[in-house]
Amino acid sequence: MLAGRVRTGDGAVKLLLATRSRHKAREVRRILAVEGPGCCTIVTLDDAGIPWTRAEEGLEPHGTFEENAASKARHFARLSRLVTVSDDSGLEVDALDGRPGVRTKRFAPPGRYPGLAQDDANNRHLVECLDGLPPSARAARYVCVACVVDPARGAFASFRGEAPGRILTTARGTGGFGYDPLFFDPELGRSYAELTPAEKDARSHRGRAFRALAAALRTQV
Ligand code: IMP
Repeated sequence: MLAGRVRTGDGAVKLLLATRSRHKAREVRRILAVEGPGCCTIVTLDDAGIPWTRAEEGLEPHGTFEENAASKARHFARLSRLVTVSDDSGLEVDALDGRPGVRTKRFAPPGRYPGLAQDDANNRHLVECLDGLPPSARAARYVCVACVVDPARGAFASFRGEAPGRILTTARGTGGFGYDPLFFDPELGRSYAELTPAEKDARSHRGRAFRALAAALRTQV
């Protein structure tokens, strides 16, 4: 899938990580570091000197995580000419027929929660949408699709990871980011914001998707 020329001196594959989210970048680096030093070397958009442009706001118009991840990876691969990996992720709640799904980042209606930052407004909105539902009706899953594009070959592959959970009525914990204080792992009996980073990576949607990607890099290059 990926050309040998993208390997760095130590044998790792050089990958541009197409995200402006420092939370996602931190998790992806952590997950891939565990896969071994020979797996890949991550370069961020900032490292590659790719400035933010308005065009980035329109890169996720699609109805599936796969299409949005591909759109982001293709855009930045075109700009950088580097092998590029993107992460599109979100939350699917059964009681909301799978919403917010690909609209997870902007779930809270604009202006509904004045003064709250986007993540806090999203969490407040989620709690309100599920108000009164018992634990058994609060099933949800995190989804992550990691997509790799090699611009030299026009090659493309995507990897999906899902993590099951349940939405809490009130936030718990201070770790993680985004919806983590509300996302409860029934097997561990803790919210994702109460897990250590290693525990989250071992179980999370992002951990699953990026470990699959790392395995493909090891076997296919
Ligand atoms: P994206 O940038 O379009 O992929 O938006 C992802 C949305 O899902 C953002 O609102 C994130 O906060 C949320 N999200 C994705 N992964 C996680 C996670 O691991 N924990 C908490 N929220 C997440």
